[in-house]
Amino acid sequence: MKITGDYHTHTIYSHGTGTIRDNVEEAIEKGLREIAICDHGPGHRLYGIDKKDIVKMREEVDRLNKEYKEINIFLGIEANVMDYDGTIDLDRNEIDMIDILLLGFHYGIVPKKLKDMFMFYFLNPASKVLPFLKERMKALNTNAMIQAISKYPVDIITHPGSKARLDIKKVAEVAYKNNTALEINSHHSQLSVENIKIALRSKVQFYINSDAHKPSRVGNFEKGIQRALQAKIPIHRIKNAEE
Ligand SMILES: [Zn+2]
Ligand SMILES: [Zn+2]
Repeated sequence: MKITGDYHTHTIYSHGTGTIRDNVEEAIEKGLREIAICDHGPGHRLYGIDKKDIVKMREEVDRLNKEYKEINIFLGIEANVMDYDGTIDLDRNEIDMIDILLLGFHYGIVPKKLKDMFMFYFLNPASKVLPFLKERMKALNTNAMIQAISKYPVDIITHPGSKARLDIKKVAEVAYKNNTALEINSHHSQLSVENIKIALRSKVQFYINSDAHKPSRVGNFEKGIQRALQAKIPIHRIKNAEE
């Protein structure tokens, strides 16, 4: 299995260590045809991009696209689910400025509503040890994700099931209807082999990405490929793979 593009890489605009140019040069070195720069959304208090930087990043990506003819460079953002109603941390104008929209659950965000803050920071971690909370939180997280992908043009859900538990079967079905793919993340453990198998029962598509936080990790798909092979995904279901 060959992966042709890496659609999830971070740079110094969030908490990656390399510049956009560094990631692009590494991707060319590794023989990729496409790369997306997808730093954390502005709602992430620790690592999020500064909203003002989106214009600067757009210009930089456009410039590099002219300079490097051998690769397509996309500007994306890994946005955050901000509330249990599925609000994300980008507005329509910002979404219009980027080429690809990734979305995931992350700690480090501050929900607008206190109730959501309590659910996210107390009940979610507690649900990992308290069985009676497990199903309740899973249902709430799943609902938030489904609302978000129904409201926004999300291309890829990043590491689904990491950080916040999700009903993968439901998410996969709604994702398929909304033309949203699920990510097999090589940096995090999700999608796991088991969850890939569950998602495969729907018609949803997948991406295998590196989630590189330093340039040398760009195009590093090993763990994702391993899990994909173990789950026996037909290659046509992976949008960035070929024989
Ligand atoms: Zn992430
Ligand atoms: Zn990431």
